[in-house]
Amino acid sequence: MISSLASALGKFPTVALTRLSTPITRVERLEQACGAQSRGIRIFVKRDDIGDIGSGGNKLRKLAFLLGQAQAERADTVITVGGIQSNHARLTAAACAKLGIACELFLSDMVPIHVAEYRESGNVLLDRIFGATMTVVPSDGDVMAVANARAAELASTGRRAMVIPAGGSSPRGTLGYAQCAQEILEFEAQNATEFRHIVIPNGSHGTQAGLIAGLTFAGQRGARVKAYSVLADRDVTHARTTVLARNALELLGGNPADVDEQVDVVVDGGYRGAAYGIPTQAMVDAVHLLARTEGMLLDPVYSGKAFSGLLADIASDRIPAGADVLFVATGGVPGLFAYRDTLAQTRVTSD
Ligand SMILES: *Cc1c(COP(=O)(O)O)cnc(C)c1O
Repeated sequence: MISSLASALGKFPTVALTRLSTPITRVERLEQACGAQSRGIRIFVKRDDIGDIGSGGNKLRKLAFLLGQAQAERADTVITVGGIQSNHARLTAAACAKLGIACELFLSDMVPIHVAEYRESGNVLLDRIFGATMTVVPSDGDVMAVANARAAELASTGRRAMVIPAGGSSPRGTLGYAQCAQEILEFEAQNATEFRHIVIPNGSHGTQAGLIAGLTFAGQRGARVKAYSVLADRDVTHARTTVLARNALELLGGNPADVDEQVDVVVDGGYRGAAYGIPTQAMVDAVHLLARTEGMLLDPVYSGKAFSGLLADIASDRIPAGADVLFVATGGVPGLFAYRDTLAQTRVTSD
């Protein structure tokens, strides 16, 4: 089953952007600090935040498939969209630089944060360093419409542009996370373990949908992937993730009806806070806790909020005693610098 998933994925052209598979490591000081250890819960982290280019992150897996397609179609320009602090935009800029493809970013002014760090540092600074062109679109504008219009304009001058949707979450890009599912299954087989919960943030849905598509294709059923939505609300996220998982499964050659919306697609909307990109205190606490027990970095928009959900689930016994949990660290470290004021709380000690 695992090998047939590998061969289904192997039919798509990809580019090598980073070494795979990513490491899986246990975080025992964190287990101790959050009360997991006393209930026999082991926590592992899959290090999708480590990457060979662009400062790493989950979008590299999707871009391996998307830019494989761009090269096969001989595109000379890649256009993509996101928020101002988009990790996907930053990694697209880095990957295009590596491949010698022009990169144009259309970034929506969708998060009402106006400090200079947010608008000019973090991912925005890196976009500029990677040489991408960048256009900010007002929050009420349609970034995809602007991107498509720009692609048409380039086509009229004989250029070949490919437009990548937000987060790289087309069915093709989503296959990057079916590949991640395959790595997880290989790890489980080699280590005689099974992760009861595979925990992730959900923004543009491709990470969750790809994991579900890969596990379903490999014959695994039943609620192993748990996502915390950080962008749309729970119900919208649940519906869109289901559609995307089915489309990705079909692209792999599986039967889309095998994804059971009620059983396989598990989304918790309780840890997003007020809106996408707006910090929560639980996120700040989660970022600090993992940093101060393991020296590992979460990000303020996605993985920090998802990790705060995992910590709450452990504290409230929603994770059963004795379970093995795998948190997929999705990257986003440059975003920390955009949230300097929120995150720069130092620990005060009396001694
Ligand atoms: C994009 C992103 C996510 C969410 O992944 P989706 O596939 O868009 O749901 C999670 N974490 C980080 C750091 C991201 O940049």
